[in-house]
Amino acid sequence: MSVKTRIRRDDEVIVIAGRDRGARGKVIRVLPAEGRVLVSKVNMVKRHMRPTQASAGGIVEKEAPLAISNVQFYCPQCKTGVRLGVKRLDDGRKVRICRKCGEVLDH
Ligand SMILES: [Zn+2]
Repeated sequence: MSVKTRIRRDDEVIVIAGRDRGARGKVIRVLPAEGRVLVSKVNMVKRHMRPTQASAGGIVEKEAPLAISNVQFYCPQCKTGVRLGVKRLDDGRKVRICRKCGEVLDH
């Protein structure tokens, strides 16, 4: 199973459901096969790490993936989470737009 999403790496998203509702962050990775996204500084979990040669170990905080359905693209114009649309420009390029204000989001 693979989830279709227009969200991409480096997009700013806002969490719309769950524990971190309202939190914003940059997408680190999209995992379409799992229907999840990894968002910077969102959905942090504590991991207990064993000491290794590379690190001292102890408790490390790490991002855990969130369901794609729990995040929305954050539109800087609307200042809220929005759905994305696609528009074809005159030169044939396809760009993503905010469905609320129509702002072109890819440059
Ligand atoms: Zn907008």
